[in-house]
Amino acid sequence: MEKNDEHLNAEQKMENDQKEEMYPRNRYEVIISGEGLVDFKDIYSRINELKLCHDIEDSLLIQPAYDEDQMKHRVNITDKPPNLPVLINNVDKNIKIDPNNSYLIDLATRYGLVDIERIFLQDNTPTNKLRANVLTLYNYIDLLKNGIYLDLTSMKHTVKASITYAKVCQKCGSINHNTKDCKFDRCLRCGNYDHSFKNCKNIPKCVNCDGSHQSNSEICNLLTNKNLTNNRYTLDILVKESIINSTDDIF
Ligand SMILES: [Zn+2]
Ligand SMILES: [Zn+2]
Ligand SMILES: [Zn+2]
Repeated sequence: MEKNDEHLNAEQKMENDQKEEMYPRNRYEVIISGEGLVDFKDIYSRINELKLCHDIEDSLLIQPAYDEDQMKHRVNITDKPPNLPVLINNVDKNIKIDPNNSYLIDLATRYGLVDIERIFLQDNTPTNKLRANVLTLYNYIDLLKNGIYLDLTSMKHTVKASITYAKVCQKCGSINHNTKDCKFDRCLRCGNYDHSFKNCKNIPKCVNCDGSHQSNSEICNLLTNKNLTNNRYTLDILVKESIINSTDDIF
């Protein structure tokens, strides 16, 4: 299986393998692609054929087999990179981020960075942050610790882990569904159904944990726990690599 680490040197590859063992993912995904597949209905029928001819049960073992299969029909299995998005800070808003720009393509080789894009606000104004994905754990840890030098700006930039924050439903205050899926209007302060929180003088009561705070309060333990769970893989790396002291630094 191809591992997205061709851009690393031998030492870095070894370090990457060690990090992959230290930080196992919940779930591993692969990308299956094919060449010369016109003779087959789709890639699944090709994989089925490989299974029948070569007695392969595990799809991941297909790659060594295709070589014997005379190269005419190729099936490539590539490891999908870890799901660890990063943010690159302080990149001038006026710099256009064009995915075909050779600078950006070069960053895949130098830093293992792909899918680089500008972050825009809801009203379409650009921020000074870029979002990107990394090809390997080695690159992720290296970027968070050492930052990145961009030819685009002739500057060194800090790189941060992108954390996903659980959203609170703006209609009822629940942390378990999106606002657009909500059928209830509740006061975000006390949880009652008959008024909105602007007019509310009641004692705050959270609809999620019954605690004495507003439902959309950052101090809610259930909200914090949900954020910790959703970001567990990222936080585990950040703490063990001493990039942050503890999860309290973030939540
Ligand atoms: Zn709701
Ligand atoms: Zn109320
Ligand atoms: Zn609460």
